[in-house]
Amino acid sequence: MNFYSTNNPSGRVSMEEALLRSQPADRGLYMPETIPFLGADFFHSISGGTLADIGFQISSALFKDAIPVSRLEELVHQALPFDTPVVALEVGKTHVLELFHGPSLAFKDVGARYMAAMMGYFLEKSNREVHILVATSGDTGGAVAMGFLGVPGIKVTILYPSGRVSELQEKQLTTLGQNITAIEIDGSFDDCQDLVKTAFTDVELNQEFSLASANSINIFRLIPQSFYYVRAFGQVKHLGKPVVFSTPSGNFGNLSAGALAYKMGLPVAQFIAATNLNYVVPKYLKTGLYSPNPSVETISNAMDVGNPSNFVRLVHLFDDNFETLKQQLSGYFFDDEQTRQAMAEVYQQFGYVMCPHTAVGYLGLRSYQQANPDVCGIALATAHPAKFKDLVESVIHKPVEIPVALEELMSRTKQSVRMKADFADFKEFLLQTA
Ligand SMILES: *Cc1c(COP(=O)(O)O)cnc(C)c1O
Repeated sequence: MNFYSTNNPSGRVSMEEALLRSQPADRGLYMPETIPFLGADFFHSISGGTLADIGFQISSALFKDAIPVSRLEELVHQALPFDTPVVALEVGKTHVLELFHGPSLAFKDVGARYMAAMMGYFLEKSNREVHILVATSGDTGGAVAMGFLGVPGIKVTILYPSGRVSELQEKQLTTLGQNITAIEIDGSFDDCQDLVKTAFTDVELNQEFSLASANSINIFRLIPQSFYYVRAFGQVKHLGKPVVFSTPSGNFGNLSAGALAYKMGLPVAQFIAATNLNYVVPKYLKTGLYSPNPSVETISNAMDVGNPSNFVRLVHLFDDNFETLKQQLSGYFFDDEQTRQAMAEVYQQFGYVMCPHTAVGYLGLRSYQQANPDVCGIALATAHPAKFKDLVESVIHKPVEIPVALEELMSRTKQSVRMKADFADFKEFLLQTA
C-alpha cells in the first residue's frame, strides 16, 4: 500500500516513508492510495474477535505487501494487548465504547502503540535510529511515552509546559526512563511546540539525527483507530438495528478513523461529531463555511482545538463532497454546564461514571436520537474518568476509583530536565545527549 499527499494527489510514497516522515514536505496529509473495500461479509463474520484479531485482519488487507503476514500478526498483537469493550447503558439504544483500557488510560494508546510497533519493525530491518520529538499539553505525551517505551531504534524526547499538566499526566511523562526523556519547559504549550517545530527545520540537528514526529498527523496513528469501530460493530450487530457512532472530537483524528472504517465497508448508519465550544466542525456542517478560531478553554480540554489538523482528511474521506459529508455526519456542540449535567445525569440514571470528553460524546448521541430514536447508539468513551478525578468527583460527589496501574505510577519519582524556552539551550541538550 502506498500513500499520497492531500496536496499532491498524483505523487506516491511507500508505507515506510509515510510512517517515518509523518508529514509530506508539501505540508499536506498522507492518505492511503486505495482503501480496500472489505465488503459486508467481512464485517459480519468478525463478531467474536478481539481488538488485536480484528486489527490483524484489517492490517493484512492493507499492508501484506510491505510486511510479512506472520510478522504483522505479532506486531499487531504486541501493540494491542487490551480490549475496547462496548458497555450497554440501555441495551439496543445507548452504549459506550470504552477506549481507555490501555496503559495511559485514553484512546490515544491505540494509535501510539500501533505506530510504535510499525516504526520499530522498519527501523530494525534497516538498522536505523530515529529520534522522536513531541510537544504535549498532556494526553498525547503519555500515550507516546508509554507506546514507544523500550522500542529498539527509537529515542523519544517529550517537551511539556512546567506546572501546566496534571500530576498524573506528569508522572506518565517523567517516570519511565529507558529511551524516554522528559523536558520540563518554563513556558506554555505553544513554547514547547515552537521549540519542536524549530528543531525540525534546524540543519545541524537534521544532520545529526533522523528526526520524526509522533503527533496525530501521522496516518499510522489513525489507521488502527478504525479497528475499534469494527470491534464495536461486532459487539452490537446481533441487535439488528442501524448503528450510529458519536465521537467526542478535537483534532478529528478519531472521527476520521471511523470514516476510514466506513470506507472499508463497515455498515454505519450515521456518524456524529460532538464537540465542546470549539465548534468549528459542527458550524461547518450547518453553514458549509469552515472558519477556524483560536481555541477556547473548556473542561474537556483534550478537545480544545480551534483549527483541527485532521479536518482536511475527514473531508477527503467523504469524497470532498459537502452534501455526502452532511448526509453521513451530524454535528453538535455543548458547553461546560451541559457537560457537567450530562456527567451527573448518567451517573444518577445508570450508575456509570464518564470523563468530560465522553460526556460530550454522550450528549451528541442524545441530540441525534431525539429525531432518530430507533438506532443503536454508541458513544466513544475516550478517557478513563480517573484521569480527571478532581473534576469528576466535584460533579458526581463520589470518590472515583483509581486503577491499580495508576496508583503504582503515582508512587514513582519524577525525572525531568528543566529548561528555559530557549532554542539554543534545547539544541545544545539534544546534541550533547546524542
Ligand atoms: C485527544 C482526545 C480527544 C480528541 O480526539 P481527536 O482525535 O483529536 O478528535 C478526545 N478525548 C480525549 C480524552 C483525548 O485525549
